[in-house]
Amino acid sequence: MIDLNKINCTGCSSCYNGCPVGAIKMVSNEKGFLYPHIDETKCIQCELCVKICGAENKVVYDVPVHTYAVKHKALEERMKSQSGGAAYVLSKHIIEVGGVVYGAIIDKDFSVCHSRAETIEELEKFRGSKYVQSDLKNMFSFVREDLNGGRTVLFTGTPCQIAGLKSFLVKDYDKLYTVDVICHGVPSPRVWSDYLKWQENCHNKELKKVFFRDLTLKWGASNEALYFRNDKRLYNIYAKIFYSRNAFRDSCFECSFANLKRQFDITVGDYWGIDLVSPEFKDDYGISAVIINSKKGNGLFASVSSELDILETTTDQMTRKNPQLLKSADKPASVDKFWEEYHNNTFAYIAKKYGGNSIKGKIKRIVKRALGR
Ligand SMILES: Cc1cc2nc3c(=O)[nH]c(=O)nc-3n(C[C@H](O)[C@H](O)[C@H](O)COP(=O)(O)OP(=O)(O)OC[C@H]3O[C@@H](n4cnc5c(N)ncnc54)[C@H](O)[C@@H]3O)c2cc1C
Repeated sequence: MIDLNKINCTGCSSCYNGCPVGAIKMVSNEKGFLYPHIDETKCIQCELCVKICGAENKVVYDVPVHTYAVKHKALEERMKSQSGGAAYVLSKHIIEVGGVVYGAIIDKDFSVCHSRAETIEELEKFRGSKYVQSDLKNMFSFVREDLNGGRTVLFTGTPCQIAGLKSFLVKDYDKLYTVDVICHGVPSPRVWSDYLKWQENCHNKELKKVFFRDLTLKWGASNEALYFRNDKRLYNIYAKIFYSRNAFRDSCFECSFANLKRQFDITVGDYWGIDLVSPEFKDDYGISAVIINSKKGNGLFASVSSELDILETTTDQMTRKNPQLLKSADKPASVDKFWEEYHNNTFAYIAKKYGGNSIKGKIKRIVKRALGR
């Protein structure tokens, strides 16, 4: 039976999707992260959950084949994506050849989960980074159904999610493409949901729409955008909690994917430090870091390259300002205190102490906004 207390459990849901007797459920712990829960009265001791555990995934590619700085040729497309639009353009190609794409969406209740897209319109909801751990639900079973039905599939997600998918599938499929994001760490779904409830209470209004990073601002600005009807408000309270790393899943501090031995076909991220590599290539609308890790990834990238401005770079250049390609996020000394305080205080207290929602923080925000930063 799978070890339920494993620190390296990433919550990938492979065991839940794979259990032949439905004995495993994914249940939130006190921090709001999903972990497997086994109904021992149903368990038949087949050990499949151990065999397909994503945290034990051992697929390793060699060093990256190519590293590129990339931006979509159409500015309006870059404005709708998080970085340079690499994940979007790869996804669009898969839909155009009749395939299906899986990625993370903000659901109607503003929780973040994975979903399936068959049309270009449906891809829109995947655009933009959602800085919270996405719930994979039963998507792995849908992916297997699609692949067994002969469909081409592109799965996008964090490396630990794709490791879970690969473990769940057991065998390789020629028609499966995988694109992972460079990942700094995933914050708790509970903190995100509590934050939104707190904002609604503060404004005494219902939220209509939310974005983790407002895409109309300069690339690199980290404000979340909250819409109360047509009233748009920018904050960086949640962003501050995200960047503090206090609300990350425990496994993020021991992430075995945060290095240059990338395991999936293509890796995408932000090309932080592009100004040091090529000041001419840099602008304020988002540049993607793209790492091609396999022959299959190379072929997929070649199919979309006419839509992109591309600059070949080196891994040394790419890692200068992107430490998540070299090591997992450092665990802050304040993590235990954060959670102790989280469980014993109101969200207003957490917003003030960890999200900079103090008078000083508010003045800083107003000045930054006035300076357009
Ligand atoms: C939690 C998190 C941390 C990140 N940390 C870093 C970092 O430290 N350094 C860095 O260079 N880049 C990081 N990124 C990646 C970066 O923010 C962009 O997501 C990436 O560059 C893709 O942008 P794009 O313009 O190519 O794609 P877009 O068109 O904007 O599409 C976004 C893609 O990201 C996927 N995605 C969005 N949110 C999630 C999620 N919560 N879980 C799984 N998949 C998701 C979507 O499925 C989609 O394919 C992080 C992303 C996330 C979600």
